[in-house]
Amino acid sequence: MSVSYDDAPQSAELFERAQAVTPGGVNSPVRAFKAVGGTPRFIQRASGAYLYDVDGREYVDLVCSWGPMILGHAHPAVVDAVQAQVARGVSFGTPTQPEVELAEEIIARTSVDQVRLVTSGTEATMSAIRLARGYTGRSKVVKFAGHYHGHVDSLLASAGSGVATFGLPGTPGVTEASAADTIVLPYNDVDAVKGVFSEHGEEIACVIAEAAAGNMGAVPPVDGFNAFLRDTAHAHGALLVLDEVMTGFRVSPSGWYGLDGVAADLTTFGKVMGGGFPAAAFGGRAEVMGHLAPAGPVYQAGTLAGNPVATIAGLTTLRLADDHVYAHLDTTIHAIGDLVREALGKAGVPHVVQYAGNLFTVFFVDPRELPTNADERAAGTLSPRQPSTGAMSAEPPGAVTNFDMAKSSDTQRFGAFFHAMLERGVYLPPSAFEAWFVSAAHDDSTLQRIAEALPAAAEAAAQASDRNRP
Ligand SMILES: *Cc1c(COP(=O)(O)O)cnc(C)c1O
Repeated sequence: MSVSYDDAPQSAELFERAQAVTPGGVNSPVRAFKAVGGTPRFIQRASGAYLYDVDGREYVDLVCSWGPMILGHAHPAVVDAVQAQVARGVSFGTPTQPEVELAEEIIARTSVDQVRLVTSGTEATMSAIRLARGYTGRSKVVKFAGHYHGHVDSLLASAGSGVATFGLPGTPGVTEASAADTIVLPYNDVDAVKGVFSEHGEEIACVIAEAAAGNMGAVPPVDGFNAFLRDTAHAHGALLVLDEVMTGFRVSPSGWYGLDGVAADLTTFGKVMGGGFPAAAFGGRAEVMGHLAPAGPVYQAGTLAGNPVATIAGLTTLRLADDHVYAHLDTTIHAIGDLVREALGKAGVPHVVQYAGNLFTVFFVDPRELPTNADERAAGTLSPRQPSTGAMSAEPPGAVTNFDMAKSSDTQRFGAFFHAMLERGVYLPPSAFEAWFVSAAHDDSTLQRIAEALPAAAEAAAQASDRNRP
């Protein structure tokens, strides 16, 4: 990128020091701003809907720590609960009462009968896959291109999030043996799923999917897709694992399950349920969970699993995340989507605004260049759209429904748009392949800030296409 955005001297200095002591200067790749260029902002503190960096700037936060901060930053009730627990001791390595209460809260909101608490979403999906394999006695796992399930070896093939941001084909360090047990299919492709089950049905332990994809940008399942996955897996003695680490307790009080009602055999949770602390979980049918140690033979453990501070933060967050909060998130994200659509429309920038519940992404693709249903049917990838199990209605033409379409985004445009927003005090995810997040603290004045920043950002996007080059 030719433009320089190095006008954050303290952040720049810290980033230089960070690069000397940490690979790439960050502890998680997307934070490095590599996809958009410029200097990552070092954040010093946050409050409500706002982030404050070491250079003294204020930003409306549309990342919300990648989802967890559903109540806004430093919510007073969460701060109080955490401080009280810290004073009582931070870790005991024994069972505690808050763990029971958090498990009860998760079970009350979702389809699962039992949960096991862990410390990250990666650990949740890794453990769920091990349990599915231990339960079925099979080894193969089916996943979808563009879905991200954490950095589990066997799940990194064609992954979303940072793997998509950097265009990595997969990653060195994953052995052929673990990659060979992973089958990657295009998302929302009924025929591909049918085909792979008819060929390998006996060897498949589980199919894992984000309940609605958020890590290639917001790409919901086509109607009926999750139910179709469940029925197909069950017809072949395999399990369905739905990854709700991003959608869980964010898109509704019950996550994506609250929107489409499809109960998986195993479900993974993270992000919101930790209230910003390292806490995650996997859960499912009692009969399957009963195979987990010490009740059953499949081993899984964690020194800091169910950590009382993280558990209290998550529990307090969930108890405060009531119907009003979810209604507010829905209204706010749609208001932002409308503002984005209006600004890009005025600037003549081709784009597709898309939601999966209250996950939102603007794809810098030309909707006229996306295959319509009819084109795809002709190409044979999606036909027939109707599985025997029920109606699967077609998505509107011009929607992004899989990773290939998401990847056709004009990332040059996104970079220019991102930096123009940043300079005007709006912090977007520093990648074209991520969802935007809001919180209960995002109010009219945050919307105002976004509305004021958008026209210039849309204009910057209009100037900066990677398409119209000689
Ligand atoms: C964030 C995420 C993960 C990984 O969680 P970590 O806590 O970062 O390990 C897994 N699955 C999905 C769907 C996610 O969004």
